Amino acid sequence: MSRHDAFKKRGLTDDQNSYYIARKRMIEEQLKPAIRDPLVIEAMSKVPRHKFIEGALVDQAYSDYPLNIGEGQTISQPLIVAMMTEALQLKGTEKVLEIGTGSGYQTAILCELAKHVYSVERIGKLSNRARRVLYDLSYVNFTLRVGDGTNGWSEAAPFDRIIVTAGAPAIPKPLLMQLADGGMLVIPVGNEESQMLKIVTKEGASYREKDVSGCRFVKLIGEYGWRVE
Ligand code: SAH
Repeated sequence: MSRHDAFKKRGLTDDQNSYYIARKRMIEEQLKPAIRDPLVIEAMSKVPRHKFIEGALVDQAYSDYPLNIGEGQTISQPLIVAMMTEALQLKGTEKVLEIGTGSGYQTAILCELAKHVYSVERIGKLSNRARRVLYDLSYVNFTLRVGDGTNGWSEAAPFDRIIVTAGAPAIPKPLLMQLADGGMLVIPVGNEESQMLKIVTKEGASYREKDVSGCRFVKLIGEYGWRVE
């Protein structure tokens, strides 16, 4: 039986078939050369990235670059999502805070690998759309909120992991305060043009900082981020 027939038999349409192939190619060509954690590879093989993208860009869902998701925002490129997720070293027991829900794609990857995901987005329209897509894909271990994520989410703190998916001028203090002991924060820090992806680990009263790689994100806008334009 050809692969095409096998897909037909499982009730998948040609469309789903071609997205499946594109996703497999993304894994092999973009991720496998750089990503070692098999759980991250598995999660990214599973989550249908094309569901988080709308309109004419859907066909580019698995390409090696970021895409517009409306409201002047972008969904990060697959490799960046994978690198940030790998940096979090998730085992499945963690309570995670994400700042910048955007399309909800990174949220879905986190839902696959952590116990519960709290995610904050400042643009209501994006948060609502992300919620719909995540529910459609049957995720239940997440809570979304609209607001300024640079203040964290004090009612749900402390967090085992915090991931910021927008570029900050400096590490927002409230996020450090809401990190559990032994917890980790992954955040791009720099100017508006380019940032350094940093991992901060909390050890008792001290924080250890490590640089991962250069990157370019949309701006983190808020009280402890960039000022509103
Ligand atoms: N993780 C997202 C990436 C979205 S881009 C994805 O996979 O699609 C970054 C997002 O951060 C944008 O949607 C932007 O609106 C949001 N953002 C910027 N500043 C924020 C803040 N202070 N609090 C919450 N969200 C913020």
